Amino acid sequence: MDLDLPESALAVREGVAAVAAKYDHAYWSRCEEEHRFPQEVFDDLGAGGWFGLCVPEEYGGGGQGLLELAVANETLCASGGVAGTFFYVTTPGFGAMTLTRHGTEEQKQRILPGLAEGRVQFCFALTEPDAGSNAIEITTAARPDGDDFLVRGQKIWISNVENADWMVVVTRTTPAAEAKDELGSRTAGFTLFLVDVREAVAAGTLSYTPIPKMGSNILHSSQVFLDDVRVPSGNVIGEVDQGFSVLWDVLNPERILAASGGIGTADAALRIATDYAKERVVFGRPIGANQGLQFPLAQLKAKTELGRLMTYRAAWLFDQGRPCGNEANIAKLTGAQVGWEAANQAFQTLGGMAYSKEYPVERIFRDARIAKNIPVAEELILAHIGTQMLGLPRSY
Ligand SMILES: Cc1cc2nc3c(=O)[nH]c(=O)nc-3n(C[C@H](O)[C@H](O)[C@H](O)COP(=O)(O)OP(=O)(O)OC[C@H]3O[C@@H](n4cnc5c(N)ncnc54)[C@H](O)[C@@H]3O)c2cc1C
Repeated sequence: MDLDLPESALAVREGVAAVAAKYDHAYWSRCEEEHRFPQEVFDDLGAGGWFGLCVPEEYGGGGQGLLELAVANETLCASGGVAGTFFYVTTPGFGAMTLTRHGTEEQKQRILPGLAEGRVQFCFALTEPDAGSNAIEITTAARPDGDDFLVRGQKIWISNVENADWMVVVTRTTPAAEAKDELGSRTAGFTLFLVDVREAVAAGTLSYTPIPKMGSNILHSSQVFLDDVRVPSGNVIGEVDQGFSVLWDVLNPERILAASGGIGTADAALRIATDYAKERVVFGRPIGANQGLQFPLAQLKAKTELGRLMTYRAAWLFDQGRPCGNEANIAKLTGAQVGWEAANQAFQTLGGMAYSKEYPVERIFRDARIAKNIPVAEELILAHIGTQMLGLPRSY
């Protein structure tokens, strides 16, 4: 469906689709079964310069924005299902977007060219055992030590630590209890750091343990222990104690990219379901003629297209430097819902074969479910819409 996207985004869709077409569902299912990083796709995307899509041209990238990145991510997911989101998690999302907007000139020169060439990977560490939805309560602390900072704390569920060169770590440089800005809020006192993962592992100050999980095993998600990791002050992203606004420029793109992943996943699930529903004949007619199957698929197609529009709008607003919080939240809510609902409906459409490993539905079904809980849970989005858009009282 052509939604009057700019030429740049249409070209991205075409180019990424050409790479994705080389890897069928069986490939993605094999990687998942073997808990294996999709190195071949990564190398292919790297060779095509796709990791540098939104890196500014002066650092060797394509100079595009979040809209094009969302289209690239959606296209990969439309091909392989949720697994395609490895694209934005490993490199362009947390690395390119964050540094382009908030990095110092030195940080950009140091990191962005390698990232654009697909040689440098990232991970993002916000969640802690006692602070997920309530990120404001994180306790990982960074304290000054000469020209450096020492970072100490624990993170959980951090994806891609095993491949990452850099970890964007969210810390408190002022504890929550003391952090009050002029509005009396506790959003002051946050600082984001670039932690050199390999250096910290070698120094014995950073360790991690993968968490056994239900799906999305092409990347591990790990518990991370930060034991006085030494970080030079040149690795602060943005300003010390003023990291909350930087954090929102990580979280809003993350929501928009998660939304595009859900939309692409819905595309993949609907394609599998409709192909099967046209071919499978029961009681003398294709099962897709039965409105009990056809209408839910049609409903999901409509919801997918609506979600796609809001995802593009949110990405476009971000690229314009305009507020996009409401749109990013609605896009994430809808993208996660249609990804999961389409996977669930595909499961229903395939009957018993849905349970077979011969079809990718069982994998997409498992992977799609978590999108309703992460990177932000559905209830927290509804709370945002309820309080910020409808003006209802807060629950927290
Ligand atoms: C596979 C995977 C990969 C991940 N990757 C990363 C990563 O790379 N980096 C990272 O930092 N984090 C990552 N996460 C963590 C993820 O962002 C968190 O799990 C998520 O933010 C939810 O936090 P929580 O698990 O602590 O849930 P909780 O905050 O404990 O919430 C539990 C439930 O309570 C509900 N709830 C809480 N408060 C309210 C309220 N006021 N009203 C209504 N309902 C409420 C929530 O909606 C949720 O359903 C990952 C998680 C998973 C599973």
